[in-house]
Amino acid sequence: MITYDFDLKIFTSSLINDDKFFSGFSTKSLGDAKYHVENIFKFFDSNSIKYKKIVIPEQIHSINVEIFSSNKNENLEKMEEVDGVITKEEGAVLTVVTADCSPLVFVDKERGIIAVSHQGWRGSVKRMAQKIVEKMIDSGADINSIKVAIGPAIGECCYDIDDDRYFEFREEFDGYTEKIFHHRGGKWHLNLSLLNYLLLVEKGVKKENIDFFPFCTKCDKEHFFSFRRDKRSDFGEMFSFIIKTL
Ligand SMILES: [Zn+2]
Repeated sequence: MITYDFDLKIFTSSLINDDKFFSGFSTKSLGDAKYHVENIFKFFDSNSIKYKKIVIPEQIHSINVEIFSSNKNENLEKMEEVDGVITKEEGAVLTVVTADCSPLVFVDKERGIIAVSHQGWRGSVKRMAQKIVEKMIDSGADINSIKVAIGPAIGECCYDIDDDRYFEFREEFDGYTEKIFHHRGGKWHLNLSLLNYLLLVEKGVKKENIDFFPFCTKCDKEHFFSFRRDKRSDFGEMFSFIIKTL
């Protein structure tokens, strides 16, 4: 279950978090994390959460996934042109930033493998969620132990897409079309979170191992930045993270 932590001002998944693993989805009140990385540091420092480094992928809406491993003695490490990161390292905070796109955090607790990914429609149509699962398994994870939390993203209510994109999705996900699309107001609406859920289930992740944030970043102005809503005026992005605690 994903619930709001009033002290930390983040949403957290009870499926993922315990005394060894800590993850969450930030909210607007923690500030923009895309152009203000200091807001991520501030969150960990002000709450006295121990970590070694913050890992920041320079996201490009790709399905590039990399394993993070480093001996550098730096508290900030950027990774170029990746949208998914996997690690076994303790104390490395894996992050992605989003505002309407779908953020996912992954863990295999038994084998100590964590991952994070960012996918908008581009990453989702190319099955990014499944690629992360495959790479986790390559790194030693067991499909039966992989747990995933699907964080706050734009809801089907607000995510209308044009016909070209609709047909692109229909071609790739023929069997899912009726589940992930609704036609309303003359336009197709896509349920991005549900699509990522279905991709995970198709890949073999157990349904009971998937947590799902049910609300919409565009509708919930109080908690979230939204690319579609804010456009140029008040635009920021939330951060999602997971860490093997020290
Ligand atoms: Zn909405």
